[in-house]
Amino acid sequence: MKVYNTLTKQKEEFVPLTPGEVSIYVCGPTVYNLIHIGNARPMIVFDTVRRYMEHKGYEVNYVSNFTDVDDKIIAKAIEEGVPAEEISTRYIAECKKDMEAMNVKPATTHPLATQEISGMIEMISVLIERGYAYNVNGTVYFRTRKFEEYGKLSHKNLDDLRSGNRTLLVSGEDQKEDPLDFVLWKPKKEGEPFWKSPWSDGRPGWHIECSVMAKKYLGAEIDIHAGGEDLIFPHHENEIAQSECCNGVPFAKYWLHNAFLNIDNKKMSKSLGNFFTVRDISKQYDLQVLRFFMLNAHYRSPLNFSRELMESSKNGLERIVTAVGRLKDIMKEGADREVSGAEQALLEEARGFAAKFDEAMDDDFNTADAIAAIFELVRFANANVNTDSSRQYAKAVYEEMVQLSDILGLTVEREEEILDGDIERLIEERQAARKAKNFARADEIRDELLARGIILKDTREGVKWQRA
Ligand code: AMP
Ligand code: ZN
Repeated sequence: MKVYNTLTKQKEEFVPLTPGEVSIYVCGPTVYNLIHIGNARPMIVFDTVRRYMEHKGYEVNYVSNFTDVDDKIIAKAIEEGVPAEEISTRYIAECKKDMEAMNVKPATTHPLATQEISGMIEMISVLIERGYAYNVNGTVYFRTRKFEEYGKLSHKNLDDLRSGNRTLLVSGEDQKEDPLDFVLWKPKKEGEPFWKSPWSDGRPGWHIECSVMAKKYLGAEIDIHAGGEDLIFPHHENEIAQSECCNGVPFAKYWLHNAFLNIDNKKMSKSLGNFFTVRDISKQYDLQVLRFFMLNAHYRSPLNFSRELMESSKNGLERIVTAVGRLKDIMKEGADREVSGAEQALLEEARGFAAKFDEAMDDDFNTADAIAAIFELVRFANANVNTDSSRQYAKAVYEEMVQLSDILGLTVEREEEILDGDIERLIEERQAARKAKNFARADEIRDELLARGIILKDTREGVKWQRA
C-alpha cells in the first residue's frame, strides 16, 4: 500500500511501526457551531482510510479530538450569555449526529482538550526545562530557533516568513524572541475559562492540545497524522516541534492532508460565509450522497461543491442501490440449484473488480478509481445475473458489491419494509417493558420504530401506529 507523505512529498510504501497495527490521529473540529461540509471532508476521507486499513486486516487505533476551548467558543458563549462548556457540549453532540448520518465511525477515542490540561502543563514544563520554551509575564512561547528541523513538514522558506513577521517585534506589540515563536500557554482575560498553572491562570495554546492527546492515546510515535491541508502550517509544524523536542523521537511517520472543499473555487469556510452546514444538506439529500460525492474525488484534489455534482452523485449511488436490490430479488427468486460451471467462470471475472478496487485503494486511497471498479461490477451484474441464475451465484455477486461499498462506508442496502406483524410484536414488547418500569427499553423500541418510519401514538384506547 502506498501513501503520499507530506513530510517527504512522495508516495511511500506504508509500513506500520508495529506489524498488524495502525495508529491514526486526525485533528478534529473546533466546536462552536454546526460543522460545514468542508469540515466533513477530512472526517469522511480519513474514516475511509481507517475502513480500508481494517479491511486489510490491521487493528486500527483511531483518535480524533474536539477542540472545546477556543476564542470562537468563548465569543459564542458571551453572545448567548451561557458558559463556554454549554456551547462545546451542545456542538459536540450535534457533530456526532452528523458523523453518524454520514456513516463516519466514532473514533476509538474522542478526547476533549479541556479534559487533558494537566498533560499539557506537564509537556510545557518539560519543554521549558530543556530550553525549548520560555515564559514572559505568564505567557509561554515555544523557541522555534532551538529546533533545527522546524519547517520540515511545510517546506517553507522560514527566513522569508521571519522577515514577513518582523514588524510585530519591532513595534513592540509582541514579547516573543522570534516572530515564528508560538504560544504554548496564555494568561486568561476577564471572564474567560481558565486553569491554574506554574506560569499564570490561563489556558493552553491550540497546538499543544494535539501533541498531548496524540501521545496519551497513541504513544510518542504514531503511524499517521492527518487533517486538512490548511493545518500543515503552522498547526502541524508546531505539533512536530513540541512533540519531538519533548519526546526525543520522530512524532508521526506519515502525514496525510486532504485538499479543500471549495465553492466557486474558493475554500469553503465559516469566516468567508460561503458554507453549507452538513445539516443544511441533510434536508435535501441522504448524507450517503454527500459521502459518495466526496469520495468521487481523490482526497488530495480540490473539490468544487455544486448542485449538479450532488445530483449526479445521487444518481450514481442510486445505480448501485438498484443493482444491489435486484441481486437480492434474484437471491430469493432465482434458480434453486448449484452454481454452474459457467457461473463459476463469471465469478472469477467478478473477483477481478475487487482486485481492481484494492489496487486503486493501495495507490494512496484512490477512491475515485475504487468507485469506478464498483460501477464495473454493477454493469457486470446487470448483464450477467438474471432470474435464470442460481441463487448462490447471485448471492456471491451481491456480497462482493456490498462489501466493496461498505469499505467506502457506503450503505447500499435499502432497509426492507417492516411488516405489520413485527410492528405489533414490538409494540407489545414496549408495553411489557413499560409495565416492568424498564423505560429505557421502551424508549429504545419507540426510537427503533421511528427510525423505520413508524410513528406511535399513545391513546386512551391503547397504542396506535402509522407509517410516516
Ligand atoms: P476547524 O474546525 O476549522 O479547525 O476544521 C476542522 C477540520 O476541517 C480541519 O482538518 C480542517 O483542515 C478541515 N477543513 C476546514 N475547512 C475545510 C474545507 N473547506 N475543505 C476541506 N477541509 C476543511
Ligand atoms: Zn491538531
